[in-house]
Amino acid sequence: MEKIAIRMHVDQDLCISCGACIGICPDVFDWNDDEKAQVTVDPIPEDLEDDALEAQESCPTEAIIDKE
Ligand code: SF4
Repeated sequence: MEKIAIRMHVDQDLCISCGACIGICPDVFDWNDDEKAQVTVDPIPEDLEDDALEAQESCPTEAIIDKE
């Protein structure tokens, strides 16, 4: 069975710009012009999934949302 790729996005209203996600997984998360975090790859490459999930779990405001 084919594996379903993980996709995420950052809820801009919930992000408090703490930088945790970017610190843990800078290949997936980066700052945008509003100084909030954003997801820079969609879908997330398989070799970055573990780090991206760790970043998601580390977000203090649960701003990193699974994308349908
Ligand atoms: Fe924003 Fe959450 Fe990333 Fe912190 S960990 S910068 S609150 S998305």
